[in-house]
Amino acid sequence: MKQLRNNIKAFLLIFLSLFVLFTGGVILQSQRARTTLLASSGENRAALAQRYSQAGSIISADGVILAASDTAGRRSYSSDPQLAEAALHVVGDYTHNISNTVESLWQNELLGEGRSLSEQLLLDIQGQGLQGNDLILSLRSDLMKTAYELLAGKKGAAVVINYQTGAILASVSSPSVHPDQVVAWKDIPDTSLFNRAFLGEYLPGSTFKIITASALLQSNLSTEETVMCQGSTPLIPGGVNETYSNAGHGEVNLQKAMAQSCNHYFGSVALQLGDQKISRAAEQMEFNQTISFDRFSLSKSQCLIGREDKAALTWAAIGQPAGKDIITVSPLHLAMISGMIANNGRMTEAYLLESMLYPSGNESTFNNRGDIIAQIDPGLAQELKDLLRQVVKSGTGVNAQVAGLDVCGKTGTAETFNQAGELVISSLFTGFSNNQDYPFAVAVVLDDSSYGSSVIAGQLLAAAANY
Ligand SMILES: [Zn+2]
Repeated sequence: MKQLRNNIKAFLLIFLSLFVLFTGGVILQSQRARTTLLASSGENRAALAQRYSQAGSIISADGVILAASDTAGRRSYSSDPQLAEAALHVVGDYTHNISNTVESLWQNELLGEGRSLSEQLLLDIQGQGLQGNDLILSLRSDLMKTAYELLAGKKGAAVVINYQTGAILASVSSPSVHPDQVVAWKDIPDTSLFNRAFLGEYLPGSTFKIITASALLQSNLSTEETVMCQGSTPLIPGGVNETYSNAGHGEVNLQKAMAQSCNHYFGSVALQLGDQKISRAAEQMEFNQTISFDRFSLSKSQCLIGREDKAALTWAAIGQPAGKDIITVSPLHLAMISGMIANNGRMTEAYLLESMLYPSGNESTFNNRGDIIAQIDPGLAQELKDLLRQVVKSGTGVNAQVAGLDVCGKTGTAETFNQAGELVISSLFTGFSNNQDYPFAVAVVLDDSSYGSSVIAGQLLAAAANY
């Protein structure tokens, strides 16, 4: 009898402690919900600061803190001001003045919300219940800084990815500002909060010749057939001519045309292929589709052509759409196109988050890394690779050469008019290092500089390989 009473006592005690823990957990949970509600209803700076006071850190792949909340509850960004500015558009700010950033899209995890009850209870017992989770990104702090320094305040974007894994190693937009200025909302230069790398909608210019070449290689037309370049004389009335080579490139086949970026050749090819084959080649490389990963979405790269006459088709072939035609590309997508060619025709899904660290020390990695989102024939990829190698070896892309690396790529120049009606020339380069040990693809876009992107691209590939 006494034994039974003792058993009952023990049972009641266990039940009681569980009950206290559970209620405690529920109280903490509801308190947390209340502060969240408070913050979201007011969304004023003080409430947001309060909300992020125990938020988790955002950390680069090489272990450098990009955002963290200190013991006094203050949230701050990288102690290196250059790095803080370089990472602004991806990391974001706790006031959410910039949307679509890690701070905003991954807020729940950073604040430790949405955990399962058991998980939360366990952390509550350990006194870590109010701490958020840390997020480890794929970004490399050294490459972020290098990219930002190379852009040197010019308007533009630079992206480096690992084309085998899909990891985004660097993604920088310029101009930028320090996150503290964004939080304080003062001294913010025009367009400096815009994530050009993800959301820019650029004319691809001659980088689009990769697509036209891909369409040609998949057709039954001969790549050895030559075209006589007419220089500054238009191919057909209203059609393409050579802006940068009055005398022209002489007689060119596909390889020479790609290396020299001959407009006459690709315009002439487009007239034989027609718009549909070019559109299809673009869609094989993810044009007209929304590319999303880790809750981020890129602005959709578009290829809507063939709505004008033959002259416009020749312009579309060189990535300089005319009339009602639309061709745009985002810098990250441009890097993924190069990555696809480098990776034997497989486009790997991009990612930005490596893993999540719980206050308990447990780490969880994310699934579906290395997923293939688009594919072209490996033989086609090899042919494109060989063409892009010549561009860097002896053509318009020689400035992207890096000693010891097999760099392949394509240059581009695009002309557009700004709101004031002035001609703006942008410079683009996309390419990759064709080395198994250095599987890096790059895209650089300078909004209003007519040259310079290939130099930056080469230096970025070199920096990535010197890690
Ligand atoms: Zn030419």
